[in-house]
Amino acid sequence: MVFLPAKESGQLAPIPDSIPISEFMLNEKYGRVAHAGSRDPYTCGITGKSYSSQEVANRVDSLARSLSKEFGWAPNEGSEWDKTLAVFALNTIDSLPLFWAVHRLGGVLSPANASYSAAELTHQLLDSKAKALVTCVPLLSISLEAAAKAGLPNSRIYLLDVPQELLGGAKPPTEYKSVSELIEAGKSLPPVDQLRWSAGEGSPTNSIFMLFEWNIWNAGVMISHRNVIANTLQIKAFEQSYRDGGGTKPAGTEVALGLLPQSHIYALVVIGHAGAYRGDQTIVLPKFELKSYLKAIQNFKISSLFLVPPIIIHMLSSQDVCSKYDLSSVHSIFTGAAPLGMETAADFLKFYPNILIRQGYGLTETSTVVTSTPIEDILLGSSGALLPGFEARIMTPEGKEITTYDTPGELVVRGPSVVLGYLNNDKATKETFVDGWMLTGDEAVVRVSPKGIEHVFIVDRIKELIKVKGLQVAPAELESHLLAHPDVSDCAVIAIPDDRAGEVPKAIVVKSPTAGSDESTLQALVKYVEDHKARHKWLKGGIRFVDVIPKSPSGKILRRLLRDQEKEARRKA
Ligand code: AMP
Repeated sequence: MVFLPAKESGQLAPIPDSIPISEFMLNEKYGRVAHAGSRDPYTCGITGKSYSSQEVANRVDSLARSLSKEFGWAPNEGSEWDKTLAVFALNTIDSLPLFWAVHRLGGVLSPANASYSAAELTHQLLDSKAKALVTCVPLLSISLEAAAKAGLPNSRIYLLDVPQELLGGAKPPTEYKSVSELIEAGKSLPPVDQLRWSAGEGSPTNSIFMLFEWNIWNAGVMISHRNVIANTLQIKAFEQSYRDGGGTKPAGTEVALGLLPQSHIYALVVIGHAGAYRGDQTIVLPKFELKSYLKAIQNFKISSLFLVPPIIIHMLSSQDVCSKYDLSSVHSIFTGAAPLGMETAADFLKFYPNILIRQGYGLTETSTVVTSTPIEDILLGSSGALLPGFEARIMTPEGKEITTYDTPGELVVRGPSVVLGYLNNDKATKETFVDGWMLTGDEAVVRVSPKGIEHVFIVDRIKELIKVKGLQVAPAELESHLLAHPDVSDCAVIAIPDDRAGEVPKAIVVKSPTAGSDESTLQALVKYVEDHKARHKWLKGGIRFVDVIPKSPSGKILRRLLRDQEKEARRKA
């Protein structure tokens, strides 16, 4: 049985086939970013610095001219993979304009998570074959280390401006060009050509993002111009009734929170593109810190918060601080990237009964949102209904279609924002994208609400992925790292639930004969991970030492068994 979007969900507009994302966003004919009189698309939540929509369009244009001169990139020349720019930076108001300038030249962006270690960033630079790296002063030393290892000269390192508060009084070094300088210089450079494609060419096949959250395949996800245009239009269509003032909410554009990392598909598409496309003003914050987050909501009268569940949980446990700020401007929260527990949502509503909580479900591989809460039919715990343009199926492990409601199986989806595949990994691409359908690796059931709308409930995860604060951690990455340590002869890494982060990794380890005591080995391994891996990958779930890792006859780690053992141990404790 193929599940379809509810008839109540909005009408999906035709998806333009032959224009680049930069034109879709910036040309008045399509998007609202460049509409005279619309809100400033991006405002710094710390300094209040802001550019009007017309200024943003001009900055993108100047930057494209400068980048073209700097790298010799021209819109209609060469493959997009010869024009790859890596970005390793905190969120800034110039990040999206920088991305669009690269897209304007037909290039690819490869944004890296700002918490990456130098080793992780090196891997991404090499894998994406980045020709240059844009970073910011707080991340400069890691960037320099990674760039040196990846063979990128310092002349190919550029800086995005961040608020002075983040520089600890230091002056930005002058030997690196800043993006602002490139924009200034671009004003007097000759214009660059428009990207020219015939219908159906280029936009559906050329990549604009190579996203690398160190997923289970350890491979970059290739996302096309059309993928992002499609998801932007799908979100817009789905939310039309809400935007039109459906329910009790005000109509029109929003003042939105731009706190989530711009290296993740959620922030990139839902906030960065769909929000700006509809004319929202995004208040950009470089990182999460409770008081500056609350202050920004109060000062800028933010109406729409884009969050992940751990921030909602954090707010709940910090009511003494939250209650000191005026959050009455907030009328909706959109949460995704990991499940929001029903009880957490209910507890939150006790404190903020006037805030509408919407949940979205999506993946990097679908250019984000697949399902979302219909405002006319809110069910706590549901991930919502399909966005227009998507179809879904629920499959058994044997690949048979489940045709009844409320029966769990793997969620498989098809739609125009399903991505092109994994970079340099045909096996992963073939196994994940089958006949146009994407195998999500998530276990779900479909239930019909009393209003007759089909809702998707994500009930478990089949794929070997851990989600820490909404960020991906692949057990295989930590396992191969641990196996390289002399104290480890075998290991498995599993997810265990965590009140704050949602899940955290725990290592089950067989010590090597040369290892010392459990206590000293534990300390050594915890440090070894912390020294080389981003913070969300740290072994916050701890380490358990065992004699043998349970495996199937074919050598596959029996993770479910390990998870059940952990559950049982927690129950007894
Ligand atoms: P990412 O590619 O980082 O966005 O991760 C995608 C994965 O996050 C999905 O395959 C799910 O396992 C998980 N995920 C995203 N949104 C939700 C949600 N609303 N509920 C449960 N899991 C989610």
